[in-house]
Amino acid sequence: MSAEIGEKCAVVGLYDVGLAAARLAVPALWSLQHRGQESSGIVVSDGEMLRAHRGMGLVARVYEEKDIDALPGSIALGHNRYSTDGGSTVDHVQPVVREDMLVASAHNGNLPVTDALRDFLMEHDALISGSNDSEMMTDAIRYHMSRGASLEEAIIESFPLFTGAFSFLVMTKDKIAAVRDQFGIRPLSIGRINGGYMFASETCALNTLQAKHLRDVQPGELVIAGQDGLRSFEIATGKQKLDIFELVYFARPDSVLLGKRVNEVRRNFGFHLADEHSIKADVVIPIPDSAIPAAEGYSEKTGIPLRHGFAKNRYIHRTFIQPDQRLREMGVRLKLDIIPEVVAGKRVVIVDDSIVRATTARDLVSMLRGAGAIEVHFMVSSPPVKYPDFYGIDTPNQSKLAAAHMSIEEIRKSIGANSLHYLSYEGLIKATGLPEDVFCTSCFTGNYPIDIGVKREGIIFHV
Ligand code: 5GP
Ligand code: MG
Repeated sequence: MSAEIGEKCAVVGLYDVGLAAARLAVPALWSLQHRGQESSGIVVSDGEMLRAHRGMGLVARVYEEKDIDALPGSIALGHNRYSTDGGSTVDHVQPVVREDMLVASAHNGNLPVTDALRDFLMEHDALISGSNDSEMMTDAIRYHMSRGASLEEAIIESFPLFTGAFSFLVMTKDKIAAVRDQFGIRPLSIGRINGGYMFASETCALNTLQAKHLRDVQPGELVIAGQDGLRSFEIATGKQKLDIFELVYFARPDSVLLGKRVNEVRRNFGFHLADEHSIKADVVIPIPDSAIPAAEGYSEKTGIPLRHGFAKNRYIHRTFIQPDQRLREMGVRLKLDIIPEVVAGKRVVIVDDSIVRATTARDLVSMLRGAGAIEVHFMVSSPPVKYPDFYGIDTPNQSKLAAAHMSIEEIRKSIGANSLHYLSYEGLIKATGLPEDVFCTSCFTGNYPIDIGVKREGIIFHV
């Protein structure tokens, strides 16, 4: 579908949570389905050995009763995948486990530069051909462990080879390690549950299991959950730079990132959007789901009533859609249908969280016009996306990003709106209530905190 660009993955870890960790891993993964819909997997340990179950598709489809029954043990690792680099075949379904079943790992993020890691593995005869970044990370750790290192020693040894974004969980038969890159680009939280511990990409998964949110794994930190409880190691000096797109689009509204409820930050985006761009209109319409809080904020601040003018089919997931030509032509209509009575004869403000390629926006405006809207004003609750992502979202290459090669006026024309307004970069930062430097803002600014290597050569800066 046109609107689809790659989403980030979800990771979950459960340590010593009672006998059936897999039974808790399933609802935790389910609550993180928004971060990845292509495949899912769980690896458990009963203290003796690791067992895995992985499959293509949504959580609801991957695990049957008999699969969960076959996963005994009180330690579990889970992953929902949405491919970034590495292709979308069954070969790369996570958690990563190798034949020796020594460790299992679950990675959220992406390593834009893997030369040093690959060279290391080659030098030590440990490179398995066809491996992606997550698999090579795992193999570096396995290599050190095969030479007698403990899990924590192996991670500390391997860490300098990992150039990129990673919220990474690794388990052995008796512990789980959680490690984050030194900028903490992807989120990772720690919870307390049933006398044991839980790690999860977002706090919404902790809430689902009624785990208590203890804190987040810090940038550059390694946390081990094992027999001695939690142990922490500062591997690298951290400098928090969470991907701000987590707040704009990815995270669930009930999650807490950097101490802020995502829903409230998005509402604030709407307040700031209203301060920056006031329009005479009759109705504010959100594009569900991610733009709902921003539209609420916009409506509240301007006094223009909010109504739901689009119904979303919540059962459309790209996993099941082989994009054949007819489906592609249906485009956004597969996902969103218009409710004409809400918009007919009205001056409409629609609010979306972002414009990437602008195909969604174009379709939405034409649906609104078709349903009789007399004016369509398009509000975007984030700044123009001008730069591709290399840290875990598979955004299209720069040439496909509307704002990288068109002015705002040109985009407005191409989507057919009466007006088009973006939240300013300053407004975006202000609305978070946090300082600019705690974020990775690369998709808006082109400032990449982690080396992206030769990929830099393909980018035009200051567009
Ligand atoms: P566009 O048609 O401009 O490429 O896509 C914009 C739409 O995609 C917006 O409605 C936004 O909510 C959504 N969007 C933004 N980032 C992502 C992403 O990483 N994955 C998916 N599936 N949708 C996204
Ligand atoms: Mg959307």
